[in-house]
Amino acid sequence: MASNCPRTIIDLTHALVPGQVPACPGHPCYTASPCLSLAAGEFANVHALTLGTHTGTHIDAPYHFFADGTTVDRLDLSLLSAAPAVVADLRGKRARERIVWADLADAAEEVKARGARVLLLCTGWSRHWNTEVYSTHPFMDAEAARRLLDLGVKVLGLDTMSPDKVTADEECADVHHVVLGSGGIIVENLTGLGTLVGGGWKRIVVSLLPLSLAGCDGSPIRAVAWDDDV
Ligand SMILES: [Zn+2]
Repeated sequence: MASNCPRTIIDLTHALVPGQVPACPGHPCYTASPCLSLAAGEFANVHALTLGTHTGTHIDAPYHFFADGTTVDRLDLSLLSAAPAVVADLRGKRARERIVWADLADAAEEVKARGARVLLLCTGWSRHWNTEVYSTHPFMDAEAARRLLDLGVKVLGLDTMSPDKVTADEECADVHHVVLGSGGIIVENLTGLGTLVGGGWKRIVVSLLPLSLAGCDGSPIRAVAWDDDV
């Protein structure tokens, strides 16, 4: 890598704006309110936050679905820090359409060639963030997820709220169970993945680092990518 020129960093994270962060039923709403304020003549600006472990762009640790699974503070950070990543272009998929193995064939070849442990699925659904359409995203086929894990993928990231189908009347977590049940990691609510598939990037590298929340099942992250070939 040529190290003297500044790298272009792509932010893959949704900004957290109070009142504009979709939350699954039962999850807390995001709030940020000043508790110290320079404008009020106080010593500094300090905010109090209300958020959940699955607020905004975030990571799911195995403990999210498995009582004996790894908690978010104990994840292998080598998988999440400057990690080679492959991005699958799935922008042709429609609402609630299943993503099957054939859709992932090119990405699977690249995963093998680069020995990547991180696979990101670009559905383009992040453009629907904070609208009713956002929950109608394409979803992963559980068998395809299993084959990705067999290839060596450890981190599956998406620009949707879940890799599983989300409907009002049915709770489905098949892909969560397959990935987290094998000790893998899921990243949800990414954005900006279209820049990576359309930009002629050769060696995508990502950092997807969670807070060290002891004993917790997930954490908001700041997700970024850069091209290690530049
Ligand atoms: Zn989650």
